[in-house]
Amino acid sequence: MNRFVLVCVLALLPGLAQAQTKAENIILITLDGMRWQEVFSGADSLLINSKDYVEDVTGLNQQFWKPTATARRQTLMPFFWSVVAKQGVLFGNRSLGNYVNCTNTMWFSYPGYNEILSGYADDARISSNDKFPNPNETVLEFLNKQNNYKGKVAAFGSWDVFPFIINEARSGLPVNAGFRTATQPKLSDREKFLNQLQTEIPSPWGSVRLDAFTHHYALEYMKKYKPNVVYIAYGETDDFAHNGKYDAYLKSAFQTDQFIKAIWEWVQGEPQYRNKTTILITTDHGRGTIPLNEWRDHGSKVKGADEIWFAAIGAGVTPQGEVKTAGQLYQNQVAATAAALLGKTFSQQGKAGAPINLAK
Ligand SMILES: [Zn+2]
Repeated sequence: MNRFVLVCVLALLPGLAQAQTKAENIILITLDGMRWQEVFSGADSLLINSKDYVEDVTGLNQQFWKPTATARRQTLMPFFWSVVAKQGVLFGNRSLGNYVNCTNTMWFSYPGYNEILSGYADDARISSNDKFPNPNETVLEFLNKQNNYKGKVAAFGSWDVFPFIINEARSGLPVNAGFRTATQPKLSDREKFLNQLQTEIPSPWGSVRLDAFTHHYALEYMKKYKPNVVYIAYGETDDFAHNGKYDAYLKSAFQTDQFIKAIWEWVQGEPQYRNKTTILITTDHGRGTIPLNEWRDHGSKVKGADEIWFAAIGAGVTPQGEVKTAGQLYQNQVAATAAALLGKTFSQQGKAGAPINLAK
């Protein structure tokens, strides 16, 4: 090898390394109002034994109680702690000094989802959960404008405000949220059945459907259309918490972990997605802890409701597991991180948080 060739090869190497770790597909997942406390420590010792919040204390203990936090979190979210913790990365265990926070000061859903998706807090304009079209461009809308992702972006949510948060009128993105049914041509048998079941199974809430519908609508859509960018917003955890049902909150957290596992396993079985897909997982806000009943609530008056967490697995993510060193990340970094994994810069004229370097 002559010197010129050697120099050329060396110059190419970093580029090659980058190309191998870059993602071609992003699946962004949120669990509404899922506390970092349960993600990192599993079931809470006081809440799981509270007759105020649990119908069958014995049964819930049998299902989710273990003597150590490590065993409890593994029991509550086995996919997070057996797969993401080995092959991916988890930020936000505050008991180890690793922090993730909202930068918005509202600490409820629309401001949180705006911050996640648009890359910055907009407290002046996004200060309620009302159904108004988001004035800010989301990273979903941004990616849908890029040549290689045009028409390859889709969103699914349990909450009926997502069509507004994603501004479907302006962005033109398909959003199946709230109690919408699958309406694309050539519905699969599963989609037809989901459409039927959704009218037959009463939701406990007026504006949020049960997450199994959101999950299966998303998965069926992915099988059919193979989108490059998918957003799935699960909602049950927040609503069960507001209802004061700690048993349902835990069972929903467990089931959502299983949903994410199913998505990961499907991804790894599909040539378009296998080893080319990154799953990013986070939450819109935290919840309180003190006094005990504050676990049900969030918002700017609830201490700790800005405390969140962030996890990632897949292409471009170096396996680091639970990050045990001091650090601080923010909710406004998620959008730029998603774009950066696809090789795109999402800065929102400098307003967006910086991408998180997951390829350490
Ligand atoms: Zn809420």
